[in-house]
Order: sequence, then structure tokens, then C-alpha cells
Amino acid sequence: MSATIIDGSAIAKAIRAEIAAEVTVMVAEGLAAPHLGVVLCGDDPASATYVRNKGRAAERAGIRFTLHTPGGDSSTSDILGLCARMRDDPDIDAMLVQLPLPRQIDSGAVLEAVPAAKDADGFHPLNLGRLAAGGVPPVLPGTPLGCLELLRRSGVPIAGSRAVVVGRSVIVGRPLALLLVNADATVTVCHSKTRDLPGVCREGDILVAAIGRPGMITADYVKPGAAVIDVGTTPRDGQLAGDVDRASVEPVAGWLTPVPGGVGPMTIAMLLRNTLALARARRPAPVG
Ligand code: NDP
Repeated sequence: MSATIIDGSAIAKAIRAEIAAEVTVMVAEGLAAPHLGVVLCGDDPASATYVRNKGRAAERAGIRFTLHTPGGDSSTSDILGLCARMRDDPDIDAMLVQLPLPRQIDSGAVLEAVPAAKDADGFHPLNLGRLAAGGVPPVLPGTPLGCLELLRRSGVPIAGSRAVVVGRSVIVGRPLALLLVNADATVTVCHSKTRDLPGVCREGDILVAAIGRPGMITADYVKPGAAVIDVGTTPRDGQLAGDVDRASVEPVAGWLTPVPGGVGPMTIAMLLRNTLALARARRPAPVG
């Protein structure tokens, strides 16, 4: 047996096309296209690339994109002031501050300055809290939501399955565990203190690796036939390396996401979905 490789690039492309079609309908209804505002502070090259890709994807989907680029020597109050202006700008539907921020800036304070109603990344405590309470917030963190979409669109059974998530970060592991619980999976969350990690992982019909340790998940960690989602993206030798050792896992798993071309493209597609959802919530409901 060899795993079905889940083509995240193709699935993300299909989702971006669905979003573009919805934006077209919105504009045809006489409503303003969604508008995403982004803050990129400083000159981190990886962040600049991510933001450029977000802008390109937004514009291709018909979403207006405004980028603010305060200098790397900005203070916390500079960024908070910028966030307040975007928060109060009625023309901005969704906003995000690209992380990481320069060291002198209080990232926690900045993230709290992004209001829940314009929370393009889905990181606001109110939106995460709604998810934890078993509800369906209007927006969800992009990477976890992207993982769930990959499973759903690949026909992987989720309800009633055993899911193991390795990694408990607030941007990936924790919200993904909640999404899987809400989708009726039985979920185990693992981390650096988990005992017998391979044994726990082998219980998973779904195994998600969100660790940041290239190649750590080998065939020993994988239940035969499991769906293995590789979130890891560690820069190595000029390329991105996943957490899964593809050569050993592919013959054992039932499904496998590659790196690159798996979860990564989904994150931006889900950002666009969040932006559209926030914009829809701010426009009048269609008549009839
Ligand atoms: P964090 O560093 O915040 O979290 C890593 C998690 O892995 C922690 O919970 C940590 O445990 C756990 N961990 C670390 N080492 C081990 C180990 N040896 N055994 C078991 N668990 C371990 O990372 P992120 O969640 O932010 O990101 C994880 C990976 O996903 C990274 O490679 C990142 O680049 C990638 N990523 C990819 C995205 C995409 O769009 N494709 C988006 C976001 C992230 P503990 O809590 O105990 O420290």
C-alpha cells in the first residue's frame, strides 16, 4: 500500500476560486468587495514573502488589500495606534498583524488590539473561546482550519475516529484539537513531555504533526492506513522540510500531505475565507 498524497495546492486553488466567485456575487449585488488590511513591521524576509503571497492571493480573489509597513524601530504604541486606525476605519473588514514582530514590541498587546469582528487570523481570544465552547466562530485560525478542510475534501472519515495532534501551540495544535473534537473525533494532544510518543501516535486514525522538527515522524509513529497531516515547515538547505519522514511514512499511511504543497497553501486560502466571512457579516443581508 502507498499513501494517497493530498494535493494541498490543488485544493487551495479550488477554494480560492470558490471565494473569488462569492466576491464576484457580492460586487454584483452592489456591495463593496472585502477589504483586508495588513501590518508588516520590520524587514524579516520570511514575513515579507508571506505577506506578499497573501496580498497576491487576496487581489486575485477580488479582495482589496492594503499593506502598512511601519519601520523595524517602531514602538508598541506606534503599532497600537495603527491598529486603532484600522479598527475604526469602516472600509476595513478584516485586519492582521504579521508575526513575529520586532523584539521591542509587545506582541500580546498588539494581538489584543485586533478586534474580534475584524480578526482575519482567528487568533482573538473571543473567537478561540467560542471554538473552545463548542461553537462555530465566524473566523478560525487558518492553518488548523486548512488541515480540517484537507481531511474533509480528501474523504478522510473524522467523526468517531481517533485523532492524535502532536504540538499544542495556540496557532496550530490547540485550535486544531478543538476543531477535531467539534467534528466528533476522539482527540489526544501530545507535546514535548508526552511519554511513549510513537505508541500514542500509532493509535491515531488521523495523525497531525505540528512540531517543527524535520523528519521526526517516521513509520514507527504511524498506524497503517492513517491520514497523516504534516504541518511542519522548517527552512533547511534553501527548502521547507516537514515534520514527517515521507520516505518511511508513505508506504504505511493511507493519506499524506506533502511539504511543500500540503498544508501551507491552505493557510492563505483560509485567510481569504475569514476575510470574506467578516466582510459578509458587515454588509447588509441579501434581499429575499
Ligand atoms: P511551536 O514551536 O509553537 O510548537 C511546537 C510544539 O511541538 C510544542 O507544543 C512542543 O511541545 C511540541 N514539540 C516540540 N518538540 C517535540 C518533541 N520532541 N516531541 C513532541 N512534541 C514536541 O510551533 P508552531 O505550532 O508554531 O509550529 C509548528 C510547525 O508548524 C513549525 O514547523 C511551523 O513552521 C509550522 N507551521 C506551518 C504553518 C503552515 O502554514 N504550513 C503555519 C504555522 C506553523 P511543548 O509545548 O511541550 O514545548
